[in-house]
Amino acid sequence: MTDTIKIDAMTRDQAVAELARLADILARANVAYHTDDAPDISDAEYDQLKRRNAEIEAQFPDLKRDDSPSEQVGAPVADGFSKVTHAVAMLSLSNAFDDADVSEFDTRIRKYLGLGADTALSYTAEPKIDGLSLSLRYEDGVLTQAATRGDGAVGENVTANARTIDDIPATLERAPAILEVRGEVYMSHPDFEALNDRQAAAGQKTFANPRNAAAGSLRQLDANITRARPLRFFAYAWGALSDPLADSQMGAIERLCALGFQTNPLTRLCDGPEEMIAHYKLIEQERATLGYDIDGVVYKVNELGLQSRLGFRSTTPRWAVAHKFPAELAWTRLDAIDIQVGRTGALSPVARLTPVTVGGVVVSNATLHNEDYIAGRDNKGEQIRDGKDIRVGDWVQVYRAGDVIPKVADVDLSKRLKDAQPYIMPDRCPECNSEAVREPGDAVRRCTGGLICPAQAVEKLKHFVSRAAFDIDGLGAKQVEQFHSDKWIAEPADIFTLRDRYDTGLQQLKNREGWGEKSAANLFDAIDDRRNIGLGRMIFALGIRHVGEAAANLLATHYGTWDAFSTAMRTAEEGNDAWDDLLSIDGVGAVMAGSLATTFNQEAEIASIDRLVAHLNIEEAVRPDTSGSPVAGKTVVFTGTLEKMTRAEAKARAEALGAKVSGSVSAKTDLLVAGPGAGSKAKKAADLGIETIDEDGWLDLIGAL
Ligand SMILES: [Zn+2]
Repeated sequence: MTDTIKIDAMTRDQAVAELARLADILARANVAYHTDDAPDISDAEYDQLKRRNAEIEAQFPDLKRDDSPSEQVGAPVADGFSKVTHAVAMLSLSNAFDDADVSEFDTRIRKYLGLGADTALSYTAEPKIDGLSLSLRYEDGVLTQAATRGDGAVGENVTANARTIDDIPATLERAPAILEVRGEVYMSHPDFEALNDRQAAAGQKTFANPRNAAAGSLRQLDANITRARPLRFFAYAWGALSDPLADSQMGAIERLCALGFQTNPLTRLCDGPEEMIAHYKLIEQERATLGYDIDGVVYKVNELGLQSRLGFRSTTPRWAVAHKFPAELAWTRLDAIDIQVGRTGALSPVARLTPVTVGGVVVSNATLHNEDYIAGRDNKGEQIRDGKDIRVGDWVQVYRAGDVIPKVADVDLSKRLKDAQPYIMPDRCPECNSEAVREPGDAVRRCTGGLICPAQAVEKLKHFVSRAAFDIDGLGAKQVEQFHSDKWIAEPADIFTLRDRYDTGLQQLKNREGWGEKSAANLFDAIDDRRNIGLGRMIFALGIRHVGEAAANLLATHYGTWDAFSTAMRTAEEGNDAWDDLLSIDGVGAVMAGSLATTFNQEAEIASIDRLVAHLNIEEAVRPDTSGSPVAGKTVVFTGTLEKMTRAEAKARAEALGAKVSGSVSAKTDLLVAGPGAGSKAKKAADLGIETIDEDGWLDLIGAL
């Protein structure tokens, strides 16, 4: 949004229009945030728009509007609450967004006060609680009024509600006769989660974050509702006072603590920007484990005498600044790495985090993509996060922007536990315990339990009934989804027992939307029709990775029968004869062979396939008529340069005549056809005593010369 028009290049007319636009957006955002407790834009976006408004006003001071957003704090009092005029206005703070802003803050103050760089000047630094500001008025030690900030001048009277909060004392001893205590009402993380659970269980709206929950709970017209909500209060400032609390900010905080208020234990006295920034970093690191939301660190000039000399700009004090955390980043602890199995069998590691609020959203999970990502490498093997790996127990910086799934942006190695171990990706699927395999060139590890993996069941079943597979009339993807969710079909074999199991259950089918008695009977007939199935379709239907329709047909032609195929697959192992035979098929590479062998090596998978096969009559693959062929059943190898046909033609021709064409010479080879340039294969064939002929000899043999 900031790049709509560059401010330096803006004309006066554009500035007028832009200021009007920003005033409108920010006014609406204020009402959504403060009055309705339901923000419509992110905090970061709000800050950005407000900054843009201030920058335009600085460029065109005379165009500043009467209703300028810079002059506004919060929003007017909502209907239903009585109004309270604050004796001392409740202002907001100006913001610092980086270390340079903090140094500038110090420089500005020194300049204003005429202090040299060597003069000591101390500041307090405290977490900025992300809740709802509240002003409590005590007269002669008795709580008489509690008010929200409202627009800074006039707030909402929430006295009855404030009285229900345990952290707010009803009476004070030895307090000034008039004392307005200011602080933040907030909700702790555990209380927030429990409240949302109760709201959800009662069918009521849940809150996006603890701040909204705190604001929504305090600003209730019925104090009994507030009473039931676990709100807390930190005191950090004051308004009207009959006697000073102390002569320093730190002293005043200590006094408030002594009077019985909760004050934040992370409040520190700092000697200058360096210490302030160091304390900021410490708080930023601890943010996720504080148990409540904070969105930055507030610095205040410690000496109250200096605070009063510095005074105020229109809506903000000169002596304080809020150093905001980056809106999209937060540090938290990675408590565990869980594996999720996708519908296609991909194993995805997910980081379980100690919940942290990032940009107004509670983040408790982040994607870790795959094992390389966890190890600190991208998919090209290049380092990410400077090569830092991610381990359970690590402190990680989480990045979240817009609707993007949160990611781990960085790891703090200085906080890594001594016994933290590098993460090892499981080699078994957590859903079905089948092997999880990572193929060369694939960053993702995948479950091989195709038919038996519950995570993959629906996708596998849909594939099983697809057009090029079993293609059952009336049983498409939609019906499969439905039958699976009704637990009628868990694996393909179940399709063929449907009629038996649901002879009585016909009723159930009939009552389903779109199912009558006739359509149910038709479905069972269509299923019965498919008990006879071609070998190619059968192999394709199993949904083995890398085995597409064409490959399934090649396998079918090569092996001929289901028994031959499945026996070979069960025994194939890298290096043995069954493996070499599988690889000899033109169009079958090591990756597909590996995938087949792995599938037929899983006991549960084989059991599932056997259950299916028991219901089927798998037809032999139609093989070419090779009666009278001189090479039927022979294993032939072509090598060297062929001059009268291409290699592909030669293979196709040989296969049509019932020969098996292999890529390598072995003891099983019957015939080597060697063209010019034949090398090691010819030598090996000679060593093994295998008959070798040239191209013309081959053409003569098959009667093509
Ligand atoms: Zn699995």
